[in-house]
Order: sequence, then structure tokens, then C-alpha cells
Amino acid sequence: MEPNLKREIILQHYEHPKNKGLIQDDRYIKVNTNNESCIDEIDLMVKVDQGKVVDVRFDGEACAICTSSTSIMIDTLLGKKIEEVELIMKEFTNMIDEKEYNEAILGEAIVYDDVSKQPSRKKCALLPWWGMEKVIQEVRK
Ligand code: ZN
Repeated sequence: MEPNLKREIILQHYEHPKNKGLIQDDRYIKVNTNNESCIDEIDLMVKVDQGKVVDVRFDGEACAICTSSTSIMIDTLLGKKIEEVELIMKEFTNMIDEKEYNEAILGEAIVYDDVSKQPSRKKCALLPWWGMEKVIQEVRK
């Protein structure tokens, strides 16, 4: 993807993040995740119904990379089965770690394909996905 387009997508999601703001609802799984090497601290709340992610909301303070990554993750994962979420999560992590990955299933999340050039930013992009991993651990309990 063209660098300008990547920047555009990141900025768009940073300025208008998807599903920002938490709600009161006990049916959601709630997790907190933070990145000590940046300002990033986010709360995620995820509703899983019949093995599918039906809603994800978030709030917190985070940099442009982390906020946009959370927003893009939400867009990418809504409506997906837990098994698909795990697969996408694995491919995303592979991409960030500069390993081989399946571009086709990552959607807009491929905008972070060169974030490894700035090692300190890797955690920013990965943070919401770590939160999601905790959610899946809860689901699998
Ligand atoms: Zn950050």
C-alpha cells in the first residue's frame, strides 16, 4: 500500500475512532491493557455471542498508532468467529514481527506493515490485539 494512503487511513481512524466510549453492560468481557513505553492505556469491552464477536467498544488514552490500530482492529473483527479472530491475530502479529503473513485476511490492518522500522511503535500497534487475546482467554475458560 502507498505510504500516503496508509497515513490517511491511520489519521482517519485516529480522528474518528470506531466505537469509542464504554457502556454499562454486564454481558461484555472487559479488559485493560497498557503499554509502558508509550502513553497508551486502553479499556476494551467485547461482547461474544454464539462464538462470534458481536460488539467491541474501547476507551482510554493512546497515541495515534495505538488509537487507530484499536479502531481498525474493531472494524476487522466485528462479526468474526473466535477461531477467525485468533487466526487474524496471529497473522497480524506475524506482520508486525516481520514474518510471513497472509495479507488477504488483515483488511486495513496492513497499514502497519512497516511499523517494525520503528521498534518502539510495535507495541502501540499490538496493544489492542493483546487486549483481545485476554478476552479470548476469558471466552475459552
Ligand atoms: Zn503508543
